[in-house]
Order: sequence, then structure tokens, then C-alpha cells
Amino acid sequence: MKHPLLPRLLLLGLLLAGAGARADSGEDAAQDDWCATIARRLHSVSLAQCRKLDLAPPGARSNNGHALMVGDIAPAAKPVASGGSARAKAPRVLVIGGIHGDELTSASIVFRWLQWMDDPEASRYHWRVIPVANPDGLLADPPQRANANGVDLNRNFPTPDWERDAHSYWAKRTDRDPRRYPGDSAGSEIETRWLNEQIEDFQPDVIVSIHAPYSLLDYDGPARQPRRFGHLNLNRLGVYPGSLGNYGGLHKNMPVITIELPHATVMPPLREQKEIWQDMLTWMRRNIASQTRS
Ligand SMILES: [Zn+2]
Repeated sequence: MKHPLLPRLLLLGLLLAGAGARADSGEDAAQDDWCATIARRLHSVSLAQCRKLDLAPPGARSNNGHALMVGDIAPAAKPVASGGSARAKAPRVLVIGGIHGDELTSASIVFRWLQWMDDPEASRYHWRVIPVANPDGLLADPPQRANANGVDLNRNFPTPDWERDAHSYWAKRTDRDPRRYPGDSAGSEIETRWLNEQIEDFQPDVIVSIHAPYSLLDYDGPARQPRRFGHLNLNRLGVYPGSLGNYGGLHKNMPVITIELPHATVMPPLREQKEIWQDMLTWMRRNIASQTRS
């Protein structure tokens, strides 16, 4: 007896399998394209290094259509007696590079750190990395600090003082410097809103935000402030209306470390990169514990 349904089910199965394979390869291809674009701009980043990052499919895109990419590096989940998992207990570190597009080293160093996140001391943390928070700025020709709308993303976070102070600060303290325009309203930019979503979703125990070229360390928030990472000494600059340090450190009460590398386009020597990384891990081991989350 003929079974008319069977071939159709088989066909449907084949179609579904084909669709799944296409979706996977489509995501890989999207990451490959993104990595190729980024590696062309950042000479110290190789395609292989970028591909090592297990990036999530882009949930958001910049104004110019570049994917806002984020990757997670988490300890392997191990069942524990309480029924939870080691992964859930790992302290969470959010690393943000390239929020200012013309600070190329601030993105490059995130790719370098990715190579070290498997090391024993680093692998106890759950890392969420955003190597390029402002792809339109980084990929502009020449690279620019602001995003495609001409907004300084690090002045666009919705801090409580934004409405009152952001525009008057910009006018009086920066003389309306177009590189420091805070936006028409708090959180007006897609990149800022997306970063905020990452913070809300991930609930980091510490945020590490990387900049250049002031060659110092800045800190906002609870926990004991770091004094020195490598050759970078703590020099608290204070906060600005709409800055991430103000938003995360003061408003949301999360430790925010700001690393200012010494050059925007020249990476520190490898030895100095390692010293910064090692001192950061030492500070984290002593000062950051996973928060109890309900
Ligand atoms: Zn910067």
C-alpha cells in the first residue's frame, strides 16, 4: 500500500534540515564578513583572532548597518550540589572597546585579551566582550570619535543629570566641540541603547571600558578603587553628564573601570599589555565577587 504522507514528511524534514544548515552558515558568514571588515581597519587584529570570538548573531545594527557584535566567554557549566551551575556563579565582567571610533587601540586590545581569557586565572570569570561598540566611528574614513549621527556615545547615556547638564556642559566646558556632542536627548543613539540593554541583561559585577590616549586609569562605583594597572596610574577625572562611568558607576552602582591606553593608534608593547591584563585580574580577584542574584 502506498503511503502518500511519508515522502512529504521526508521532504519537509530535508527542507527543515536544509534551512537549519543555511541559518548556521549564514551566521558564520555574517561573522566572517564582520571580522574581515574589522581586521582590515585594525592592523593588529587577525581574521583568525576575530573568528575565535564566539559572537552572538547581531541583534542590533548601527546607523550605517554594521552589526553590533557581542561575545560570551564563560566557564564550562558544571552541575553542583545546590542544583545551580558553576557558570551561574562566575563573576561577570563586561568589556567594552571602541566606544570612541578613533581610539583604535581600545578595540584592538579586546581582541588581544580574548587570546588570554582561557588562561586559568581568567577562566574563572564569565566575560562578555563588545570589541567595537561604535563600528560606524571606527570604520569611518578617517575613523571618528562620534557615531554616524555625530554623537559622542560616552556622553549619551541616560544619567539623572543629563537633562539638566548635558547640553550646558557641552556648550560651556567644551565650547560646543562637535566631537563631544551628547545627542539631542539622553539615550538617543541606537548604540547607547544597545549597550544599556547589554548591561541590563548581563548584570555585570564589573564593567571595563577602554579608551585612549590619556595613559591613565579611572574608576567609578562601589568596591575598592584600583591604584595601578601596569604603567597606568589611577587619576580620577570625575564624571561627565551622559558618560558610562557616571551611568554605570554612580547611577547603577556598578564598578566601572576606565582604561585609557597611551596611544589611540599604536598598541602598547606586548609586555605592557600583559602587565595591564595581569594587574586587572589581580584587582578583580581581590575585589569582585559574584553578586547574589535572585
Ligand atoms: Zn575615549
